Amino acid sequence: MATGWYYAAFGAKKLGPFSPTQLQDLAAAGTILPIDTVWQEGNEKGTLASRVRHLFARAASNAAPVPVAAPPVVVAESKPMLVPEQAAAPKAPEKKPAKKGRAFAQKGADIMSQDGAYARYRKKCMKCGHKDAACHMVAIANKTFKTNYFCPKCRKSCEVSIQCQM
Ligand SMILES: [Zn+2]
Repeated sequence: MATGWYYAAFGAKKLGPFSPTQLQDLAAAGTILPIDTVWQEGNEKGTLASRVRHLFARAASNAAPVPVAAPPVVVAESKPMLVPEQAAAPKAPEKKPAKKGRAFAQKGADIMSQDGAYARYRKKCMKCGHKDAACHMVAIANKTFKTNYFCPKCRKSCEVSIQCQM
């Protein structure tokens, strides 16, 4: 059984009937204030709205029912911070700084392997393709590494050029 409720703002006309849910909605919307008077149907003696149990419970839980346009969130760009390595990773300090250098054989060499810091290469003859048996290493720096290879077959020296980039 639905019970009709009425309310009147202070000094204003009595309005109603409303269902308990509607009354709560009015309270939540701020239409009914705690200082207003409400009446339950059949009870001519008005009650202060603030004294009606649960009437403002929803008003409290729906404190901000209107979605507020959120201001654009400015995400601070993460800048590389100069943090001592031990502070960043105290338990597992890296043995070697992570280098991302690359080596490319331009001529007179074959890159065998590289780890970003060093490249292993074998010299080879540009003319006959004869490869040197020995492996050499070059530290990768931001420059082109040049050396010579004396081919035992051609009996000539040819140029070795390895382009390195950091
Ligand atoms: Zn040769």
